[in-house]
Amino acid sequence: MQTNFSDVQLTDPTIARADEILRRCVHCGLCTATCPTYVLTGDERDSPRGRIYLMKQMFEERQVTASMTYHIDRCLSCLSCMTTCPSGVDYMHLVDLARTRIETKGRRSPIQRGLRFLLSNILPHPGRFRVALMLGWFARPFGKALARLGLKRSAAALALVPPRFPSAKHARPSSEIGKNADAKRVALMLGCVQEVLAPSISHAAIRLLRRHGIDVVVVKDEICCGALVHHLGKEEDARGHARRNIDAWTALAREKPLDAVVITTSGCGTMIKDYGNLLARDRGYAERADHISELARDITEFVDEIGLMPPVMWTGLRIAYQSACSLQHGQKLDTLPISLLEQAGFNILQIPEGHLCCGSAGTYNLLEPGLSGQLRERMLANIAKVNPDVIVSANIGCMMQLAGGTETPLVHTVEMLDWATGGPIPEALAKLKDPGHPIEALVELARNSALVD
Ligand code: SF4
Ligand code: SF4
Repeated sequence: MQTNFSDVQLTDPTIARADEILRRCVHCGLCTATCPTYVLTGDERDSPRGRIYLMKQMFEERQVTASMTYHIDRCLSCLSCMTTCPSGVDYMHLVDLARTRIETKGRRSPIQRGLRFLLSNILPHPGRFRVALMLGWFARPFGKALARLGLKRSAAALALVPPRFPSAKHARPSSEIGKNADAKRVALMLGCVQEVLAPSISHAAIRLLRRHGIDVVVVKDEICCGALVHHLGKEEDARGHARRNIDAWTALAREKPLDAVVITTSGCGTMIKDYGNLLARDRGYAERADHISELARDITEFVDEIGLMPPVMWTGLRIAYQSACSLQHGQKLDTLPISLLEQAGFNILQIPEGHLCCGSAGTYNLLEPGLSGQLRERMLANIAKVNPDVIVSANIGCMMQLAGGTETPLVHTVEMLDWATGGPIPEALAKLKDPGHPIEALVELARNSALVD
């Protein structure tokens, strides 16, 4: 794509980077076929190619119009377009630059600004999020009434609140558990939202890693990875989060080097793997940020590296594996989790249109409930076609998004791997009380063999 930046404009590192990315696009339009928003709306401005044109205009003409904000806000950052693009257009970093520009120079309605302020000040803080969740839990019965009154965002937010408050028996894992001097040593990231909504996932990861002889450490000073604020265009805030985490993990590595920073939330994994880029111009952190990005591993990547032990049972459960966008498109880990689940004795079913986002996308389901809801219904309909016993995902956001619309249990990949190699049955399966359900026999077996946590 030809660009028209002046020499003066190109002295700005943001413009120079945007120019470099824009020039790779040959406007072939192949990306439109796999873009969830274009598939839904058919509007070129809701496609990757259309958005690339809007971003070119934004940077060349130094203006942020209402139309640019509207269509770029509707992008999920699912990165499906990057998987499809034959020219290697780095859409992820281009849209990051555009979001930051919109946040600083664009105009949004007071409602949008207020909502974004609340989201960026609540979700990344587990204590505040827990209080908000509790309030949401009390308000949950009024969700349908709010929808009837046209308050779609409030109704969508309440639909995401789990019917049961997360179990209190899962205290934050201790930071004192890394003691084995000869073992490989990893820092496990707990994740801010996941720590509140499903702490059982981190506990499963710790059991799985320790069963494989890995020394797991949980860092007390770790905070949200920064992805939530980064997707809201708050780049400086995201850098602040990254610096805090880099400090925490670097301090830990001084005692004994880390072999990996292991992540069980794929959205956080994509972010941490990009810390090197985020802090590339920060002289005090660039080198350490690069090192942390190199250490970052999705839990499935790390388990594959060390080799998954054979399963203690062969359940043959039929799993619809929902490949989170941040994992399949962001980290290019599409077949690896499936291969591990198969090694663990599960039967994996291909979800039709599995490359399309479920509509969760960080805070997207709260900011764009219309498109998000359509994507959720589409994915659930596709999952229903394969009639699974369980839906498995690698991202808490996707799990919450899908959970409200299906009776099929939702379980994290690591909980399934932990169960298969000797851990307790995942909570979502242990709760099943339906004697006619195909996995009830397995649940009963697990109860009798004391494998229920
Ligand atoms: S597929 Fe790549 S090169 Fe083609 S229009 Fe999309 S972003 Fe541009
Ligand atoms: S990131 Fe996803 S929603 Fe955004 S343009 Fe690319 S494919 Fe479309």
